[in-house]
Amino acid sequence: MRDLSKLPKAHLHLHFTGSMRLETLVDLAQASRTRLPSSIMDGDPLRVPADHRGWFRFQRSYDTARQLVTDEETMRRIVLEAALDDAAEGSRRLELQVDPTSYAPFVGGITPALEIILDAARQATVLTGVEVAVIVAASRMRHPLDARTLARLAVRYAGDAPGTVIGLGLSNDERAGDTASWGPAFKIARRGGLAAMPHAGELLGPEHVRDVVDALGPTRLGHGVRTGEEPALLDRVVAAGISLEVCPASNVCLGVYHGPADVPLGTLLQHGAQVALGADDPLLFQSRLVDQYAIAREQGLDDAELAELARGSIRASLASPTSKAAWLTEVDAWLASPDPGERSAAETASAPTSGEEAAAA
Ligand SMILES: [Zn+2]
Repeated sequence: MRDLSKLPKAHLHLHFTGSMRLETLVDLAQASRTRLPSSIMDGDPLRVPADHRGWFRFQRSYDTARQLVTDEETMRRIVLEAALDDAAEGSRRLELQVDPTSYAPFVGGITPALEIILDAARQATVLTGVEVAVIVAASRMRHPLDARTLARLAVRYAGDAPGTVIGLGLSNDERAGDTASWGPAFKIARRGGLAAMPHAGELLGPEHVRDVVDALGPTRLGHGVRTGEEPALLDRVVAAGISLEVCPASNVCLGVYHGPADVPLGTLLQHGAQVALGADDPLLFQSRLVDQYAIAREQGLDDAELAELARGSIRASLASPTSKAAWLTEVDAWLASPDPGERSAAETASAPTSGEEAAAA
């Protein structure tokens, strides 16, 4: 039972607004004299059924938080705090999803909005040691032409280093719109050297995953957790080298699975899927990155298997080969470190009588 917050890992599924600390949200609400919904304030994670009405409640809470982000200083604060929280949880790399459209009116357009986020990501990288890169996320609730505009913007800042754009995402209600209509935006992104990272396979099942894989050419799937409902499709996704950003607490809070034990991590791993655990929206789900690994441990994964999960997150990241190699070595060191659980069990069993023996144990 090694310390999961010390396990080196990459965090590949976290939304900008959803990453906000609760105290930051409260600060912003007080400053603007905004009343926050009790669903956010009661300290319990938001739990809603996966039907449309449940999703809208989730969306309303999310929008309330987003509407409080109305200046550059707040945008920078959110990025820095996300990186600080990731650093405390052993993350070496954070790939943060942002739709700059929401903040554009306050800072002079989508280009300055993205530039602020990228600059904040570079600064956060220096200050925390966590590499922070950005995924520009288009929204299924907007017109696909908006996604093309975002894709062209994102391509101008493409890279793999901290403070660059690494991919194009597609978020919000999976059930909205016709998946193929976002094909051109993802084509622009892929041609411009960006990875395709759309959401799929959380609220909807294998049929939707198939649509997204066929139409958008993903490098990774946001969630993808329901792909395993059709084993042949999961095998196809694995063979295509598409990684899955699985967010167990999000799945449970959105009513996709009854409890953490029901999230089918085992099925995905048995099929050889490369899984990167993510927190999605810790502000609403009250569950951060390490909590996702704790859920995997509760499902019965031992430390070697948890280390392999962390390696999967690092491999699935878009970090440079040099960074990945360094972090993978650190994962090996974590696994090679003494297991505190085993040591205390051994101490109890042998009950050393002298200080010398205790030292040897
Ligand atoms: Zn998400």
